[in-house]
Amino acid sequence: MARAENLEFLIEKSDSPTSVEARQAQLADPGFGTLFTDHMVMIKYREGQGWHDARLQKREPIAMDPASSVLHYAQEIFEGMKAYRLADGTTALFRPEENARRFQASARRMAMPELPVSTFMQSIELLVDVERDWFPPVDGGSLYLRPFMFASEVFLGVRPAKEYLYMVIASPAGAYFKSGASAVSIWVSTDYSRAATGGTGAAKCGGNYAASLVAQAEAIERDCDQVVFLDAAEHRWVEELGGMNVFFVMDDGRLITPPLSGTILPGITRESIMMLAREEGLTVEERPYAIDQWEADANSGKLIESFACGTAAVVTPIGTVKSEKGDFTIGSGGPGQLTGKLRARLADIQRGVVEDKHGWVKRL
Ligand code: PMP
Repeated sequence: MARAENLEFLIEKSDSPTSVEARQAQLADPGFGTLFTDHMVMIKYREGQGWHDARLQKREPIAMDPASSVLHYAQEIFEGMKAYRLADGTTALFRPEENARRFQASARRMAMPELPVSTFMQSIELLVDVERDWFPPVDGGSLYLRPFMFASEVFLGVRPAKEYLYMVIASPAGAYFKSGASAVSIWVSTDYSRAATGGTGAAKCGGNYAASLVAQAEAIERDCDQVVFLDAAEHRWVEELGGMNVFFVMDDGRLITPPLSGTILPGITRESIMMLAREEGLTVEERPYAIDQWEADANSGKLIESFACGTAAVVTPIGTVKSEKGDFTIGSGGPGQLTGKLRARLADIQRGVVEDKHGWVKRL
């Protein structure tokens, strides 16, 4: 189905790229998700023909027929990853094959064709190479990459589409949270669920995020930075945040995180943190953790820190948890020691400050 091992890319660079002065001005304060580079990658897929028409071209709007099936049935998946400028000036990606494999897993869940890992890698490397002058020279800056794929077939029947478009765009980014590494507050959503058993929680599909927005809006209304979701069946077990996995640091050297039961996204940061924590001598447990337990453990002092993690925000301490039932504070409400240590260890590996003995950093 997916023969694309050695796709030839047509490369057609923009004839009106952003001027050096304008680019430098934009990169001084990139924010998150609003600034874009000059180029994009596109690859088409058609049933029977496979992947074809791979190109790198100037970034521009795409024309879509109003009956394109993604606009009706939401067959859409995406990835989020960062390219970093290392201390020695080279550019690098962090575990990009993991994103490629998760993109394939998301595609399988959404009845979409799987893009070969090699083609995914080719597309990313090509775009980063062309946009190498778009790395923001700011603290915590990176080039955020957004590969995505959607059903482009013009058809209103409800069945997997026969045509798709895969694209990659790039967005220079500063730190995700304005507060940097300071603690965030989170709102426990009890009215809304993000995912149920048998649903699409483990896939990175747009629909999951659409479903989370009303809960995130509720969090903002309650003066919280983020929402945390509970399981759909019992509203008891902590699952994950809208865009981050969650960890609990206990006073006896255990680090707990909810298991990959099919309803949460298998975060690449989550997996990396588990490995780094084991190396720090912590006992890592992937097991269900109840919201009431979280509160009881925070109040008794058994739980000393909590943090969220993901590509965008790296590792972010959780200071306060608010819900309809009341609020509780974790530790002093500020960033915890272990959270800071894990955050620094991960960031140092990602940015080439320390030796990468795990083979996680792919230099370009
Ligand atoms: N959960 C959700 C729902 C997410 O959107 C993300 C961000 N991709 C994560 C967790 C963290 O995943 P990763 O560490 O791979 O960025």
